[in-house]
Amino acid sequence: MHDTAAKLADLERPDPAAWESARAEAVHLRDAHWGSTITYSRKVFIPLTHLCRDSCGYCTFVKRPGHPLARYMTPDEVLTVAAQGREMGCKEALFSLGEKPELRYPEAKAMLADLGYASTIDYLRAMCERVVRETGLIPHANPGTMSEAELQTLKPVTGSMGMMLETVSRRLMKQGSAHHACPDKVPVQRLRTLERAGRCAVPFTTGILIGIGETWAERIETLKAIRDIHLTHGHIQEVIVQNFRAKPDIPMADHPEPSRDDMHRTLIAARLILPPDVSLQAPPNLETDFGSYLRHGINDWGGVSPLTRDFINPERAWPQLARLQDVTAAAGGHLQERLTVYPAYLAQADRFIDPAMRQPIEEIARHDGLAAIQCPV
Ligand code: SF4
Repeated sequence: MHDTAAKLADLERPDPAAWESARAEAVHLRDAHWGSTITYSRKVFIPLTHLCRDSCGYCTFVKRPGHPLARYMTPDEVLTVAAQGREMGCKEALFSLGEKPELRYPEAKAMLADLGYASTIDYLRAMCERVVRETGLIPHANPGTMSEAELQTLKPVTGSMGMMLETVSRRLMKQGSAHHACPDKVPVQRLRTLERAGRCAVPFTTGILIGIGETWAERIETLKAIRDIHLTHGHIQEVIVQNFRAKPDIPMADHPEPSRDDMHRTLIAARLILPPDVSLQAPPNLETDFGSYLRHGINDWGGVSPLTRDFINPERAWPQLARLQDVTAAAGGHLQERLTVYPAYLAQADRFIDPAMRQPIEEIARHDGLAAIQCPV
């Protein structure tokens, strides 16, 4: 522990040469637990609604009533995307959506009523259920903060769920900061969701968003909060380290982006702080030299879609899978397709997978819990 503290202190110095011992330890920890296997999930992205009651300063996904995209996808649209994904070998349906828009906008409430639902979560559940039944894709639901009842509502129709913690900094709630006027970005609300997911035994994905105004100390505090919740409940299957990218149409358009070095030292810190069984992921479409992440402790590229664009960063296409494979191989890794739920959680299906989801997942899993049919890249 003392050694880790010393290495984390090294990372505070703005000198990559001072980080070498910490970097080598991060890679050693990754190799010892994950070997040379570097994973990704072949997915389709289903943006069920762009409506959201929050107003994050870095968000280009959210659309307000009056915008053509400020609506819910219809069931036919959802099923069409999922079926196309299935034909292209996808195994995961990533449902990504804004948080509880019906609590802010009467328009959202009326749209849900027209669809026959009282809440976004109820509609999400129905769409997840149909996607599993009609296409065999395994849903990963990402609807933001959730109560235990909402988590229990979604568990029988999903393989895993997720919510980025992003940061535990309360400073960023202030006017002019990234999370001003975002009731779902109050850190304690997000920490409670992580804990509730643990109590409900949901294989869970979370992560941090770097470069949105947080300090290095707050970043470390955020990683330690995730670690502590995982040590209590054992359900955090992966942590994403995502770098803020500026876009012209967001309030933070002029906010400086974190440098590649800053991303590198954060990946090292994450690998040192998190237990080794927590998968460490960084998105390959938000950095040109993404292969360098493999030299800083990651073992996963996250969801990559051959069909749908990244709706969170629409200007950043995912790399072709062939390139991902080449970059991974050049770093000594072996690219493997995984499912939305990680093998360690499939191996404890009695606890972590709802009985209704076991057969659909087992049908596409191979003996070691990764994807049974590894699609050609
Ligand atoms: S909660 Fe998510 S969708 Fe809503 S404004 Fe923030 S980043 Fe955008």
